[in-house]
Amino acid sequence: MSGHDHQNSVRNDHDHESRIADLLAQMTVEEKLGQLQQLAWAWDTGPGGGDTAAAEAAARKGLLGSVLNVVGAEASNALQRIAVEESRLGIPLVFGLDVIHGYHTTFPIPLAQAAAFDPAVTAADAEVSAREARSNGIHWTFSPMMDVTHEPRWGRIAESIGEDPYLTSAYAAAKVRGYQGDDLAASDRLAACAKHFAAYGGAEGGRDYNTVDVSEQRLRNLYLPPFKAAVDAGAATVMAAFNTISGVPAHANSHTLSGILKESWGFDGVVVSDWTGVQELIAHGSAADEAEAARRSLTAGVDMEMVSTTFVDHGRELLASGALTEERLDDAVARVLRLKLRLGLFERPYVEESAAITGPTLAARAAAREAAGRCMVLLRNEAGTLPFDPAALRSLAVVGPFADSGDLLGTWTLPGAPEAVTVLAGLREALPDTEITHAEGASAEGTDPSGIAAAVAAAEAADAVVLVVGEAPALSGEAAVRSELGLPGAQERLVAEVAATGTPCVVLLVAGRPLTIGAWADQVQAVVMAWHPGIEAGTAVADVLTGAVVPGGKLPVTFPRSVGQVPLYYNHERTGRPYDPAAPEVKYVSRYLDVEDGPAYPFGYGLSYTTFETGAPRLDHERITAAALEAGATVEVTVPVRNTGDRTADEVVQLYVQDPAASIAQPVRRLRGFSRVRLAPGEERQVRFTLGAEDLGFWTEDPAGVFLVEPGEIHLHTGTSSRTTATRTLLIT
Ligand code: BGC
Repeated sequence: MSGHDHQNSVRNDHDHESRIADLLAQMTVEEKLGQLQQLAWAWDTGPGGGDTAAAEAAARKGLLGSVLNVVGAEASNALQRIAVEESRLGIPLVFGLDVIHGYHTTFPIPLAQAAAFDPAVTAADAEVSAREARSNGIHWTFSPMMDVTHEPRWGRIAESIGEDPYLTSAYAAAKVRGYQGDDLAASDRLAACAKHFAAYGGAEGGRDYNTVDVSEQRLRNLYLPPFKAAVDAGAATVMAAFNTISGVPAHANSHTLSGILKESWGFDGVVVSDWTGVQELIAHGSAADEAEAARRSLTAGVDMEMVSTTFVDHGRELLASGALTEERLDDAVARVLRLKLRLGLFERPYVEESAAITGPTLAARAAAREAAGRCMVLLRNEAGTLPFDPAALRSLAVVGPFADSGDLLGTWTLPGAPEAVTVLAGLREALPDTEITHAEGASAEGTDPSGIAAAVAAAEAADAVVLVVGEAPALSGEAAVRSELGLPGAQERLVAEVAATGTPCVVLLVAGRPLTIGAWADQVQAVVMAWHPGIEAGTAVADVLTGAVVPGGKLPVTFPRSVGQVPLYYNHERTGRPYDPAAPEVKYVSRYLDVEDGPAYPFGYGLSYTTFETGAPRLDHERITAAALEAGATVEVTVPVRNTGDRTADEVVQLYVQDPAASIAQPVRRLRGFSRVRLAPGEERQVRFTLGAEDLGFWTEDPAGVFLVEPGEIHLHTGTSSRTTATRTLLIT
């Protein structure tokens, strides 16, 4: 921010606060409580869906703060007009929507974006999404989701950035900035919402909404850092999570909401509940009735209630009994008004309907295609099967349930969002001189094997086969939990029989989560993890299979060998009896007897069409004092990386730290730096990372929150996956 911008923003803040005080002085208790209410528009008419008439009536009386799920510029203007022109104080409504990875232009799912190891990918999604959504009257997106998780069974892993808090933090900050820019009032920006606060990804067994019993140190070291990063990046709002945190529901958790978020981090934005999350305190067994649910949530720090109406229904009686203070009520209202002022809604409550963006532009499509290409991860490539040589490939069979499917957008897409370009269409366009045949082979989930014979025949007749298998988007997302991680239905049989033809076989995996592919991966020549790639699925896949784009993505989550190994993640804590592959005869070790130790593919893993070498890291100093680190000193780590192959391509250089002797058990490795660089054949680059106190220390088990940088050795590991190859020691004295 320039000095001039800074002065403007201080003046704005000052104006906003006096405007808020002015409004609060004029508002009745009912009007104040009304600002804390968010109702749903009737776009979603299922059980618990919205009620448009109720929203209009409340807006007219000035008893409504926000509406979610209003779709279209015209509908949002019409509803806004009621609030602004018919209510007593004319306070505008703020319109929210789940714009998770695109509005019209669907980008790859967030987990795929994570695989790019490049926050610019998520920033590009956020910018396109913000422009499209704001032009249609949306002000606020319930994104980014930043729930770190160790659970591939959990359907919402697709919406997450995976298992690592450092990667998630970098993405969270980039996405917040991408949505919000410098000025929330701009006509192409959205207020972001950091969700779900907190530890929602820790649900037992991956069962959505389930119990999270978590130590304070794990809460602070694993789940909270992305939220801190989002708040530091200016996130305007935060959403509470459906789960309990060590017995206390997140919606009633004053430790996390007030203690950490608002007091310690200084968050002055809005905490919104999740959908009926306040009322659900009753189902949790944490409130006897709605009045108690409202009291617990409001006093813990929730400012706005989504869909259920306990605040407006019981706020007055809570005030009268003294259970809710006027000060807390005014604070919650002030936060909502501040959001509206920052969004410029008092000056410009409406959008220009003629300027509403009505579909994906060519530029937005191009950005989505580039993003999808950057997200793909090459897991296997025997004997240079990929990329295809278009000149030599006379015929290609494209088979599998997702080969000709437009259903590759992923979870959380908006109704009416254009379908994806199919893989078949993308390959036909990219390979005009190749004869391309197609057979479905098997359906996405059905067990009927009768279509497999046609797929086998197509494969036998072709020079190569692309098998597009995996999971439909409906198998991931909210409440979509699986107990198995293999290919559903008859798909594994399809892969086995097609692979047995002997025709070179490339598997393109589409899924919203890691899958166990060990049963068949070594029978096929190549495997590309394509996730749910979004609107440009087919074109991006063709880019990668033909080598127009060299895959450079890396896994943001561990791929287990079997579902029974879950949770399996790279940054697990050390145990006293680790398994040592060099001493397999040792009996009393921490491992499974019936599955090969470790993951099928580790965190940070991904191949390329070229080869890279990284050298030993160099440090600008090998010793530093804890006091110097705490005072802001840093250590610079330099890692040489060279493209030793014959194609220009990207590599993600990764830096991990490990504290071998600390006061509390430490992860075996923690990601503390990553950099995706593009190198020409033979080119060498020095990649620089900076480590500070926050990278080298950790939170201890103390509810008041104590962050320590302890004296001792720190091992720095660098390389091109979490199975790093080079090590250096830093001494903290
Ligand atoms: C989800 C949130 C979402 C909200 C509004 C909830 O069920 O957990 O992530 O923002 O619905 O659609």
